[in-house]
Amino acid sequence: MSMSCPFCQIRDRTLPAECVYEDEEILGFNDIHPQAPVHLLVIPKRHIPSIEALTETDAGLVGRMIRVAAQLAQERGVSSEGYRLVINCNAWGGQTVFHLHLHLLAGRPMNWPPG
Ligand code: 5GP
Ligand code: ZN
Repeated sequence: MSMSCPFCQIRDRTLPAECVYEDEEILGFNDIHPQAPVHLLVIPKRHIPSIEALTETDAGLVGRMIRVAAQLAQERGVSSEGYRLVINCNAWGGQTVFHLHLHLLAGRPMNWPPG
């Protein structure tokens, strides 16, 4: 997977990224095409193609990804204003990279319904 997957390449440091968080199982970095003043991606280091591929044993990991995003939002001072966490799934969901990732979007008001 790491040969063709950009996020595996970022994990392996063969593709550069502005990393903002790392632990044993999770990586956070700036989105290359930010859609808001703060636009971070939080990924599992393990290649999981999408939320469709999650199993019961991944429940803790996904919970920790959300907690990392909330912690990063607090560190950046965008928590009280508010922010949005997004996971896109497959074509109509807008997924373009098939390595699970959680978007943290903040720094401007978000619209609802989303586009
Ligand atoms: P998706 O559309 O799959 O939910 O989100 C993929 C996100 O990854 C997009 O926001 C896109 O800008 C970002 N992205 C794609 N390739 C790269 C890359 O090589 N580096 C970084 N930092 N972000 C990327
Ligand atoms: Zn991958």
